[in-house]
Amino acid sequence: MAAPRVTVLGSLNTDISVPVPHLPGPGETVLAAGAASVGTGGKGANQAVAAARLGASTRMVGCRGDDEFGGRLRAALVAEGIDVTGLRPVPGAASGLALITVDPAGENAIAVAPGANALAGEEEVAAAFSAPCDVLVLSAEIPVAVLAAALRRANAGGWKGEGGAVARGERRRMRTVLNLAPVPEGADRVLAGRPAWLVVNAHEAGVLLGTEAVDAAQALAMAARLAAGETGRGAAAGSPADPGSGAGPGDRYVVITLGGAGAVLAGPAVAATISGFSVPAVDTVGAGDAFVGALAVALASGLDPAEAVRAACAAGATATTRRGAQDGLPRPAGVLAATGYRWPEIPD
Ligand code: ADP
Repeated sequence: MAAPRVTVLGSLNTDISVPVPHLPGPGETVLAAGAASVGTGGKGANQAVAAARLGASTRMVGCRGDDEFGGRLRAALVAEGIDVTGLRPVPGAASGLALITVDPAGENAIAVAPGANALAGEEEVAAAFSAPCDVLVLSAEIPVAVLAAALRRANAGGWKGEGGAVARGERRRMRTVLNLAPVPEGADRVLAGRPAWLVVNAHEAGVLLGTEAVDAAQALAMAARLAAGETGRGAAAGSPADPGSGAGPGDRYVVITLGGAGAVLAGPAVAATISGFSVPAVDTVGAGDAFVGALAVALASGLDPAEAVRAACAAGATATTRRGAQDGLPRPAGVLAATGYRWPEIPD
């Protein structure tokens, strides 16, 4: 079996994090307790790094500025062996930037300047489909029009090889994983594009359905509603008239992640609660991205839906045992050490 192939179409940000004694109020300047740390992040880039570390042949598609930060964002991906031919430097644009203040209790306040991420467009959709993949990961820090266009294209046949022909077998194999984090304006429009998988955390599921889950049983019921195409915003998420190969109401998988409690999965012939792995968590930043990247690799490796979610839970739990977003993303050996879960063998 060849290595699983994952393409991520999403965002890249530089994270500048400052430890402060308390979060600054309006007009206030707070002197930091220590030095600022500068790291690479952004949901898309984090998910790509997670997928690469867990053994996938990974492509990252998105936009960066032609500034110094953009060069670092690119270099960090290259260092992980990620194909960055679909990463476009946008002349004159600033790279995405997250300014993070963290107080001693771990509470944070974050301001994000999307910069070049907001300029992703048709060019990125074309780049995402310019090479074959088993799983295409989409996350919501780029314009919803791009997410909707990518889903349309995936449903219309996915990857087109030389001369525009759909390679034999590719059409059936390529799956889409949509991570609606954060839930954007226009989420219904994106869901109408029929992603095969939808992954959200409990808060995001609450935003989509207008109700909060208080326990796993309620979360599972909410996942089933989302799998059936319901959102609290009244849209039919998926049109039966669309003849594409994507998942319509009733045949999509929906995962709601529940932090330390694990995740629930609803979809065709499955309704499962997957317990969390018990780990000494020190920093939950990046857990959701580790989960999504890992899920993509697990599905691309051929794991069945419930087992893929379990593998993703193990990766998410492992990410919480290390500080930092990209720094904390695990490799198979780290997953085994932290959780006892043996990541599936992936060939070179
Ligand atoms: P997000 O980071 O997007 O809010 P979650 O907090 O739900 O997402 O975390 C994603 C996944 O990471 C969870 O489904 C779980 O498998 C794992 N995880 C997160 N926090 C913990 C924790 N404290 N202990 C064990 N696993 C965790």
